[in-house]
Amino acid sequence: MPRDRFEREIDYLRISLTDHCNLRCVYCMPLTEVSYAPPDTALTPEEIERIVTAATDIGFRKVRLTGGEPTLRPDLVDIVKRVARVPGIQDVAMTTNGILLSRMAVTLKRAGLNRVNIHVDTMNPERLSRLMRWGKLADIQRGIDAAIDAGLTPLKLNCVVTKGFNEEDVVDMARLTVEHDWHVRFIELMPLGGGECAKVSVERYVSNVDTKRRIEEALGPLELLTPTNPSDESKNFRLASAAGVVGFISPVSEPYCGSCNRMRLTSDGRFHLCLLKDDEVDVLAAVRRGADRAELGAILLRAVASKPTGHTLADGRSTLDRSMHHLGG
Ligand code: SAM
Ligand code: SF4
Repeated sequence: MPRDRFEREIDYLRISLTDHCNLRCVYCMPLTEVSYAPPDTALTPEEIERIVTAATDIGFRKVRLTGGEPTLRPDLVDIVKRVARVPGIQDVAMTTNGILLSRMAVTLKRAGLNRVNIHVDTMNPERLSRLMRWGKLADIQRGIDAAIDAGLTPLKLNCVVTKGFNEEDVVDMARLTVEHDWHVRFIELMPLGGGECAKVSVERYVSNVDTKRRIEEALGPLELLTPTNPSDESKNFRLASAAGVVGFISPVSEPYCGSCNRMRLTSDGRFHLCLLKDDEVDVLAAVRRGADRAELGAILLRAVASKPTGHTLADGRSTLDRSMHHLGG
């Protein structure tokens, strides 16, 4: 398994399939003046398969498909099939807003997708449409039901806590875990891209310390669970006799850079070395001139070796070139 300069084992590739989205969450995509990569730079299914094959050659084992919104790719099923059949890949997951999932969950499962994380910030329909602009709770709910029916489990729900929008709804979100064996994960806002959404992410930030306190005041103590995966960015808890798990992803109040195991691949073919920094290594040019898997693996090893550690959010510095919808979280 590849190790970086900080002795971190990097075996998890997160692939952004597109920087387009059918929603405009207030902290992720502006309503106007969105910057997109040129369409001809989008990696094809065959190119993605070649990169994933090279990644497994050097020890990568897990892949997550994200975006933008990955379900907007008309060739998503082909991509899943190609990634899932690469020898050495042990887990293929996807992060989605769930809006289009109900019509494709079974096909994706058959193609080799193991599980999904569905982004839903509140179970209140009005507040959801205000925060996840253009989104309707009923559509996401159908996506959740379809994911469960198709066996895309364990189901994880991502809730980005945003001051003035949904910070009180965290109690209802956490309560879902009492009956359902789902993981409900509360995510702290991160400012990326330097624009309007980065500003929102700073101004509307809610610490998970406050979110956890709010949940415990309403629902009782959260019992800390022993981590099963040391690279899990989520610190996991359980409410008394609950079926599911309450997780906190706290990049700002409790950074987890020391256990980072990720490499990101952008939809336009660049290895992005740290979510919160702009450093990238181009792989598109090599793929397009027909580089073999050994050469692609060497490029990925170079990217791993260049991974920085420790973000600079406390000094007000984050990415400028890339926003969350380019990188996929
Ligand atoms: N469209 C899919 C979705 O919404 O899940 C996948 C891409 S989205 C960029 C991936 C995840 O990033 C989302 O689930 C959301 O939880 C998270 N996210 C988006 N903007 C964020 C921000 N500014 N700070 C923290 N998390 C964010
Ligand atoms: Fe789209 Fe996901 Fe960003 Fe929301 S968080 S705008 S659903 S990419």
